[in-house]
Amino acid sequence: MVQLVPLLRLRHLGDRVFDYLVPPELTDRIHVGSVVWAPFGRRSARAVVVAMADSVSRELAELRAIESTTDDAIPQELLALARAVSERYLSSYESCLRLVAPPLAARRRLGGKPARNTWVTRVPASTAEATVAKLTTKQAAVLDAIPPGGSGIGALCACVDVGRGVLRALAAKGVVELGVAPEGSSMRPERPIAEALPCVSGAAMPRLWPEQEQAVEQLVAAYEQPGSAQRLLWGVTGSGKTEVYLRLVSRVLEDGAGAILLVPEIALTPQMIARVRARFGDKVGVLHSGLAPGERVREYRRIARGDAPVVVGARSAVFAPLANVKLIVVDESHDTSYKQEEEPRYHALTVAQLRLGPSGGLLLEGSATPRAESVGQPEECVRLTRRAAGAVPECEVVDMRTQGGGQLLAPRCREALAETLRRGEQAIVLLNRRGYAGYVHCDLCGHVMMCSDCELSVTYHSRVGRLLCHHCGRTYAQPALCPACAGAPLTRAAPGTERLDRELRTLVPHEQVFRMDSDTLTSGTRVQALLRAFESSRPAVLVGTQMVAKGHDFADVTLVLVADADTGLYVPDFRAAERTFQLLTQVAGRAGRAERPGRVLVQTWNPGVPCIRMALLREEKAFYEQELESRRRLGYPPFADLVRLMTVAENGERAQVGAQYLVERLSAHFSGQELHGPARLPTLRGRARWHLVIAAGDGERARAIVKQAMTQLQEPYRRRGVTLLVDVDPQSFS
Ligand SMILES: [Zn+2]
Ligand SMILES: [Zn+2]
Ligand SMILES: [Zn+2]
Repeated sequence: MVQLVPLLRLRHLGDRVFDYLVPPELTDRIHVGSVVWAPFGRRSARAVVVAMADSVSRELAELRAIESTTDDAIPQELLALARAVSERYLSSYESCLRLVAPPLAARRRLGGKPARNTWVTRVPASTAEATVAKLTTKQAAVLDAIPPGGSGIGALCACVDVGRGVLRALAAKGVVELGVAPEGSSMRPERPIAEALPCVSGAAMPRLWPEQEQAVEQLVAAYEQPGSAQRLLWGVTGSGKTEVYLRLVSRVLEDGAGAILLVPEIALTPQMIARVRARFGDKVGVLHSGLAPGERVREYRRIARGDAPVVVGARSAVFAPLANVKLIVVDESHDTSYKQEEEPRYHALTVAQLRLGPSGGLLLEGSATPRAESVGQPEECVRLTRRAAGAVPECEVVDMRTQGGGQLLAPRCREALAETLRRGEQAIVLLNRRGYAGYVHCDLCGHVMMCSDCELSVTYHSRVGRLLCHHCGRTYAQPALCPACAGAPLTRAAPGTERLDRELRTLVPHEQVFRMDSDTLTSGTRVQALLRAFESSRPAVLVGTQMVAKGHDFADVTLVLVADADTGLYVPDFRAAERTFQLLTQVAGRAGRAERPGRVLVQTWNPGVPCIRMALLREEKAFYEQELESRRRLGYPPFADLVRLMTVAENGERAQVGAQYLVERLSAHFSGQELHGPARLPTLRGRARWHLVIAAGDGERARAIVKQAMTQLQEPYRRRGVTLLVDVDPQSFS
């Protein structure tokens, strides 16, 4: 007999395990960690064997038997890791087992999602009110967003943020037609990322310069010491961190051990994968969400067999089924994509600590702009201060209070751009807000147009000519007059990349402008195609959101313009200053990478704000000192551990009462300085939300208390229609 955890989302069953019989013909093939199929209720479910049991808990006759085994097994080490993650993040064991379970092989589903290269057009006759009135919010939003000539399915789904299944439903209703893209339209069929990358083995190792050599020495020493160690490789952009990682991986392979290299977003870091492949060839396994299901299974099995002792991947690759892992590198460790924003809400860095803890090994964070939490222990920090090539770019502030003209780019920036392009060079323009106008408001009464389901302001998109809620995807027509006072037309405020793109096209020939944001780029392949096109164009300007500041190396960019340094400043998040500092430092690092000098112009309404001033003056040390001091004063990480609790309900009063009761209950354990809230959050998709945040010096104690409260309250709350969510070490407070 064995105990199983079915891989089904069954919250109300808590962490229960279930007893099952093993049929005699399977006895030899089933062990702890085996992934099997077993009857559960009326269906058959995938399940993990978590224990062999010899005592029988019930009458044998009542027990059901395992149906079959998949012959994939989760290693003991990863079962233990799943348990540790579930304890650290107060998540169900089942949700954590999912993270370590092998991927499901693709199964053909009839009537599944339309293919990625489908072209969507509206059926004109079907615009009859009767059909359209019966559509769901999502369906109506998609329908509204289809431009007159039709659209590629990927771009459409991304702008409205829905799955392709929605379009199948619309096609079934006869409202849209799914077909083949017309000749010359800008949509290519997707190609798997792994194929697109060159794979050369046996590349010669480049020489290290003294600073790198020293860093490698220090880190190898940390790796060789017994037990586990953690280090931060703090290197300015272009200082050669990747080569240091590769040397460490070589060292680990000499010992017959394995290494995992995590990168923020695979699509933005193809160069990293290419370099790892070039060095280690077939020994490299790649794991990320862009792989087709079949490829994913193949890579997983190759890694599990030990054929690929070097694994490169995004966040979830920290759970790779690799034996004897002795090195985990987290590149660009400040990146927010390392935190999963759904259950279990883990952070890859913490999981890496948990994974290396029992077995020993080196956890290496690399960043040009580390999190303040990582800078806290200076003795564990290795610096790279020299850029491989090119001088440090000069930074200039453009004080927008003294600039007129009503254009997004000040005259000085336009001149700099024109000059750069005249020389046949490349420029990057950053504006960290997508859409055409961030919000639409009335100058007379101040009314702001909001999504009626979400209490969030809606964004104007000129391509579809409508107001769009970036959260739920619902679209609205823009009224001619303010609906609140009817006294004035509405004004578009907070310009985004779409507007900047348009402004640039009045200054620069169209073919020289490349735009990069999540409205235009919906897949990794498309990101890479755009980056390649930009790289091979001279002159050229790349305009986009923070995506342009991440990872990618551009050899020929000599000018960086920041259109609005203030976009991230006034958000209710204690990390706002740090994120602004990081973004400005990262994007400035894109200028003048090769032999040409770079120039950086930063437009701001707040030139005196410390995080902006210090980023421009490159006063890193001063910035982190000041940031850590303010965190200490306010009791934020790294001086406290945070736990955030949220109540979500259709009924606003119940969500509020639920949050208030939680605070009452928790105030027996936490002081007023530790317990913040409850506070109301904007309603999303028609669901009211309240949250409270605990900031406690003793994180372990705080989590234990919260766990107890969750265990007792989750079920009674659920029965009243209130979902109780917990986020340990939250990165977002919206
Ligand atoms: Zn958008
Ligand atoms: Zn008004
Ligand atoms: Zn909405």
